[in-house]
Amino acid sequence: MKALLIYPEFPDTFWSFRYALKFINRKASSPPLGLLTIAAILPEAWDKRLVDMNVEKLDDKDLRWADLVFISAMSIQRESVKNVIARCKSIGVKIVAGGPLFTTSYEEFNTVDYLVMNEAEITLPNFLSDLENGEAVHFYTTDQWADIRHTPIPLWELVNFKRYASVNIQYSRGCPFNCEFCDITLLCGRTPRTKDKDQVINELESVYATGFRGQVFFVDDNFIGNKKKLKEEILPAVINWTKMRKHPFTFNTQASIELADHKDLMDMMVRAGFDVVFVGIETPHEQSLAECGKFQNRNRDLIDSVRNIQKSGLEVQGGFIVGFDNDPPTIFDTQIKFIQKSGVATAMIGILMALPRTQLYERLKTEHRLLKESTGNNTDLSINFIPTMDYDLLISGYKKVISTLYAPKHYYERVRTFMRQYTPPGKKRRGFRFRPHYFSAFFRSVVVLGIIEKERFFYWRLLFWTMFSRPRLITQAVTLSIYGFHFRKIYQKRLD
Ligand code: SF4
Repeated sequence: MKALLIYPEFPDTFWSFRYALKFINRKASSPPLGLLTIAAILPEAWDKRLVDMNVEKLDDKDLRWADLVFISAMSIQRESVKNVIARCKSIGVKIVAGGPLFTTSYEEFNTVDYLVMNEAEITLPNFLSDLENGEAVHFYTTDQWADIRHTPIPLWELVNFKRYASVNIQYSRGCPFNCEFCDITLLCGRTPRTKDKDQVINELESVYATGFRGQVFFVDDNFIGNKKKLKEEILPAVINWTKMRKHPFTFNTQASIELADHKDLMDMMVRAGFDVVFVGIETPHEQSLAECGKFQNRNRDLIDSVRNIQKSGLEVQGGFIVGFDNDPPTIFDTQIKFIQKSGVATAMIGILMALPRTQLYERLKTEHRLLKESTGNNTDLSINFIPTMDYDLLISGYKKVISTLYAPKHYYERVRTFMRQYTPPGKKRRGFRFRPHYFSAFFRSVVVLGIIEKERFFYWRLLFWTMFSRPRLITQAVTLSIYGFHFRKIYQKRLD
């Protein structure tokens, strides 16, 4: 059997980093972890090939080669998915589809031959055994959660790592919280399931063996969902491993805000090699936090929490939302002031979106406020429900927020705030490696940001300020300048 694994194309989004990747000659952020895990579950005897449409073209001859096409996708890849399905249909190759988009919106994809939904560790073996017996059916689902201690190592041999900036791995699934707008608990449950320490180390070792060096992203929904196991088992093992291997990777991940209350945990993460953490901060407006059930963010000084994390040696990237029912008309100025003060340079601010089957989606349906399915991209102005706030006010307020936050003056000012608040790892983590692509990124940034683009004054001011005030942070200064360029390009499209 010949299996072609296809990863559909992402549109240009905040997290695509498309404009930033050009500075380091990479085509996409990371290879598709889900499909590579599926490849490892498929029978060993099958021929397998991967086409990630974010780094290469999908040719008709690829489709003709295959007996079965496997597609995995998120909501944001919907347009490309539809295109791939149409091409498979015209060529007559059978499709197996799974992943978050198909699991939450399967009604839209009736033409797919086999819908293998929920967690593939459970549903895919059922499909494969039926296929072998000639009894495969259209629809596979489960209400069980997989024991990820048995999840195989992704089949890295299908990947050309030179095309990617980073590699994704996973230690846990699920989140103990239950925010109204989030589909994580729906897809992965509320009890965090974790891999064992040997498994994590084996996965790191498998990435190391490919020759890849650089950024590794733990894609966990909430990395600190099980703090005890992290502190007692996982992080000590990663600290030892990374030391033994002479610091081949830096790590980033996602975590909830109460990470700020656990200094010991942050210190261990930094010693293990973590340097960036994404936190869903959402809004400084208490009533809106109450509305969306984000209780962990309530009754705390959020700015203080962000600073605690930055002081420990972790850069905070933040998610922010406007458009809650409880948002007052002043929310736009409040968000701008709050984000500027926090020093969160990478601030992904979007309009609230109702993802299929979430609690928010169900509530809005009951209130007859749903307008259409979401695009999965909350920065594209395509609000999919009737907001409480006047629509025009919401859109113009949102445009004001993004045009202010990413204007060079404000963006570079925020980067400097971050650098003042941030404590570099220092003795906690030795072994930082300067990698060759840092040079090319630096020289390109000099040409593009320091000569060609209008922001050149702010770019040079940041670089000189960093050299004299925080010389150890020069890599961050260049990296964040490049990120800012990407974010401006993305948000500019929303403003045109
Ligand atoms: S904390 Fe984050 S991952 Fe967990 S439910 Fe809330 S938004 Fe989702």
